[in-house]
Amino acid sequence: MPDRSAIYVGTAFVAGVCLTIAYKDILDSRRNEKSAKPKPQSDALVAHSGPPEIVEGIEGCIGNTHLFRIKSLSDETGCEILAKAEARFLNGAGQSSKDRVALSMIELAEEEGILTPYSGDTIYEGTSGSTGISLASLARAKGYLAHICLPSDQAIEKSNLLLKLGAIVDRVPPAPIVEKENFINRARALAAAHTGSTPVATEDGEVEPSERMARGRGFFADQFENEANWRAHYDGSGPEIYAQCNGKIDAFVAGAGTGGTISGVARYLKPLLPDLTVVLADPQGSGLYNRVRYGVMFDVKEREGTRRRRQVDTIVEGIGVNRVTANFEAGKELIDDAVRVTDAQALAMARWLVEKDGIFAGSSSAVNCFAAVKTAQKLGPGHRIVTMLSDSGSRHLSRFWAKAGDVGGAVDTKLSDVLNARDEDFQ
Ligand code: PMP
Repeated sequence: MPDRSAIYVGTAFVAGVCLTIAYKDILDSRRNEKSAKPKPQSDALVAHSGPPEIVEGIEGCIGNTHLFRIKSLSDETGCEILAKAEARFLNGAGQSSKDRVALSMIELAEEEGILTPYSGDTIYEGTSGSTGISLASLARAKGYLAHICLPSDQAIEKSNLLLKLGAIVDRVPPAPIVEKENFINRARALAAAHTGSTPVATEDGEVEPSERMARGRGFFADQFENEANWRAHYDGSGPEIYAQCNGKIDAFVAGAGTGGTISGVARYLKPLLPDLTVVLADPQGSGLYNRVRYGVMFDVKEREGTRRRRQVDTIVEGIGVNRVTANFEAGKELIDDAVRVTDAQALAMARWLVEKDGIFAGSSSAVNCFAAVKTAQKLGPGHRIVTMLSDSGSRHLSRFWAKAGDVGGAVDTKLSDVLNARDEDFQ
C-alpha cells in the first residue's frame, strides 16, 4: 500500500487553513455586524398584556423598566417629558440603573474566567453608592462576596444598606483621584492584594483546592473604565427607550458619573436617530459641562482655595466628575449640549416632583429633570424628551433630602421658582 500519510497531512493542513479563514470571516462579519448601525430591537420588547413572565433569579428582573410621562413638567413646557423609572422596586437587585451595569460587569468577568461563582471570589468596587449596592446584592445572588469602598461624605443610608446586604464596607475620607487613599484606588489595591495573596496551585497541585476556595480571588469591577458599563445601556436602556417611544425621540438628557448611561444610550440611539439631541445634565462642581461646551475640563469651584469638601463640590450624589473616564470617552463625541444645574435648582426640582407629581426622586434624577425642562424650553413645544430617574429619594434622606426639607401640605410652587432657585432658599 502506498504511504498516503503525507497526502492526508497535506489535505488536513489545507482544510485546516480553509476552516480557519472561514471561521475568521464569520467572526469578523459578526464583529462588523455588532459595530454597524444598531438594530431597533422593538420586536423583542413589545409589551405583553398581563403580568411579566417568570424569570430566573433576582438578576432576571433587571431592565425593562417603565417609561412614564411626567405630567407636571410636560404640561408646563408643552413638550412630552418622559422619565425612565430605573428605581422601581423590581429593577432587580439594587433598585437603580446601576443594576444593569453591575450585572454586565459580573457577566463579562465570568465569561473571561476572572470570576467563578461559589469559589470564594470577592468583587471590589469604588463607588458613590449605587453601583456598590447593585454589586453587593448581585454578589449574593450569584455566589460572590463584595467589598465596597465609598467616600465617607455620601449619605449614610447607602453604607447601612450595604452592610445589610452582607458587604464589607470601607468608608474612605474624600480624596482626589491622584491620591492612594481615594476610594477607587483603594478598591483597586485591595483587589490586587487579595489576588496576590491567594495561593495559586502549581502543576503538581501543591495547594489544597480548599485553601484556594477559601481565599478566592479579588476582582476590581472598575465601573469608570470598564466598558461593560456603557454596553449595559447600549444593550438595555437604549433599545428599551427606542422601542417604548416607537423611535420618536427628540432629545435624551442624562447626567454622567462614570458616563456609562449617556454614552451607551447615545451610541445606540444616535445612529438610528441622527437628529436626536443628546444633552448632558451636569451638577455644580463638575467639570464636564465646560468639557462638552468649550472642550476644557474645568469648574469654577476647582480654583485653588475655593474647593470645599469633596472632589465634585455638590450635594448631588452619583453624577458629576472632573476627569474624562473611558465610559464618558466612549460617547463624548455624541453629546451635543450640556446644562449646568446648581444644588439649589436640584433641590427645588426634587421638591417640585413630590409636590406636583408624587415622585420621590434621588438627587441625580432631580438634576436630570431640571435639565430636561431647560432642553424643552430650548427646543420649544411639541418635542419629546427622555430622561432617567436613576434612583429613589430614599437613598438620599440624610443628605440631599435633609437639605430639601419637608414639602408641606397646601403649597403651590411655580416652575419659575424652581428655575430661579438660589442657595439662600435652602440655608
Ligand atoms: N445617578 C446615580 C444615583 C448614580 O449613582 C449614577 C452612577 N454613578 C448615575 C446617576 C450616573 O450614571 P453613570 O455612571 O452611568 O454616568
